[in-house]
Amino acid sequence: MEKNDIYRLLPRVDSLMKEKETEELIKEYGYDCVIDAVRSALNEARGEIGCCATDSEEKPEETVGRILAGIREKIRDILCGEKRMNLTRVVNVTGIILHTGLGRAPLGQEVLRNAGEIAGGYSDLEFDLETGKRGERCLNFEEIVCRVTGAEAAMAVNNNAAAMLLILSALASGGEVVVSRGELVEIGGGFRIPEILELGGAMLREVGTTNRTRPEDYRRAVCQETKAFLKVHTSNYRIIGYTRETTLEELAELKKETGLPVIQDLGSGVLVDLGKYGLVHEPMVQESVRRGADVVSFSGDKLLGGPQAGIIVGKKKYIEKMKRHPLARALRIDKFTAAALEAVFRQYLDPEKAVETIPVLRMLTRPAEEIHVDAEKLAERLRASIRAEAPDGAEGALITVEKCASRAGGGSLPEQDIPSYAVTVAPVDIPAGELAERLRKLEVPVIGYLSGEKLFLDMRTVDEKGAEQVAEAFRGGEILRKEAP
Ligand SMILES: *Cc1c(COP(=O)(O)O)cnc(C)c1O
Repeated sequence: MEKNDIYRLLPRVDSLMKEKETEELIKEYGYDCVIDAVRSALNEARGEIGCCATDSEEKPEETVGRILAGIREKIRDILCGEKRMNLTRVVNVTGIILHTGLGRAPLGQEVLRNAGEIAGGYSDLEFDLETGKRGERCLNFEEIVCRVTGAEAAMAVNNNAAAMLLILSALASGGEVVVSRGELVEIGGGFRIPEILELGGAMLREVGTTNRTRPEDYRRAVCQETKAFLKVHTSNYRIIGYTRETTLEELAELKKETGLPVIQDLGSGVLVDLGKYGLVHEPMVQESVRRGADVVSFSGDKLLGGPQAGIIVGKKKYIEKMKRHPLARALRIDKFTAAALEAVFRQYLDPEKAVETIPVLRMLTRPAEEIHVDAEKLAERLRASIRAEAPDGAEGALITVEKCASRAGGGSLPEQDIPSYAVTVAPVDIPAGELAERLRKLEVPVIGYLSGEKLFLDMRTVDEKGAEQVAEAFRGGEILRKEAP
C-alpha cells in the first residue's frame, strides 16, 4: 500500500467530530478544545504513518489498523493532559527549605485561609470603612508590620528586587549612592547591586576594599551628588578573616553629619532570633531599625516564611516619598499577597508560636532527632512495601537511614549545615539517576538528590502528607523494576 493511500484511510476531522464518543468529550471539554485535540491526534497519526519503516516486521495493513484504532484514545489523552495543571505540587525531599526552584517558602494553613477568604471575595483593600470613600491600599498590613519591626512606616511591593529598585529610584535617582566594595552582591536570577543601582538611575560610588571598609571611606566619598549610603547584607556569601565592616551605628553617625539616609538591603528579613535555635544569628529587621537604618528592605518569601513580596520599612518621610513614586503603582502587590502578609506578620506577634506555625521556621528549627524518627519510620514502611511484592524475596533496593545536612537555601545562611536524616535508596536493578527521574515524572513528583549511587530523601522538608506521598510512590516497589512502570 502506498503512503498516500494510507493517509486517505484516516478519518476526517468532521466525521470524527460527529461521533457519539466525541460528543461526550465536547460536553466535558468544550468544542474548541476537542477540535484542536482531534487535529493534533490526526497530525500525530500522519507523522507516525510517515515514519513507518517499510521493512518493519508489521504488515502495512496492521500498522494502519493499529494507528487508526489508537486515534480516539489519543484524542482523549491529549484532552486529559491539557486539563492537568502545568504548575504541579511536588514533594520536596531535597532538604533545601527555601528551594527557589520549588517555590521558596510554603505558606501555613492560617495564612492560606486568610488569603483565600480575602481574595475569594470583596475587601476594604483600598476603601476607608470610616468615611465610605476610596482609601489607601494596605494600611492594615502596614500597621502590623510596624508593630512587629518597630519601624515608623512600611509598604510592600512585588519582591525584594522591586523594593530595591523603588527605593533607589525614589531616593537616589540622578545622584550617587555609596556602597562598600565588600557588599556588591549578586543574588541568583540576575539580581546584582550595581545593575539595580543603574536601573534606578543612580550612580554607584564604591568605597573601601573587598574585606575592609571603614566609616572614613564612606565619609570621604560624600560629595554634592551623594544621595544615600547603602548597606547590603551579604546574605549568600561570607567574608571572613582580616575584615572590617562599617556598622549601621557608624553610618547613622555619618547621617547626623551629612543628612544622607542609610538604606539597607537585608535580603532575608528574619524576625526571630535564630541563634536561640542553634543556628547562626542572622541580622533581624528589628535590629536594623533600632540600629539606625532609615530604610530597610527584605523578601517576604525567604526566612520570613510568607508570600513573595518585597517589604520596605523605615522613616515615614522616605516611605511616603516611595509611595508617591510612579513605580510604586507598577510594582504594587495584589490583595492575595496583602492578606497573606498580614496573616504572617500577625503570627510574629508571638515569636515562640511563629516558630511552630510558620512552615519555614518549623522546618528550620526541627531537632534532628525528631527527623531521625520520621526517617526510620518511612524507611521501614518502604522496605515492607517493596518486600511484600518482590518475587522470591528479591529486594528492589537497599534502603537505609543516613545522617545528612539540610540547607536553608534561597541564598540564606550560606554556611549553615543543618544536621538532618535522610532515607537513602540504592536501587538494585536500575541506576539511582533513573529512579530520580522516574520519581520526578510521577503524578505527584518526588524531588530528592543523588549522592554516590544513592538517592537521598531528606526528611526535614516533608510533612506527614509528604511522607505519605513518598510511600505511595514506592508502593509495591514497581518504580524500582528494570522495565519502567
Ligand atoms: C534574595 C535577595 C534579594 C532579592 O530578593 P527577591 O525577593 O528574591 O527579589 C535582594 N538582595 C539580597 C541581599 C537578597 O538576599
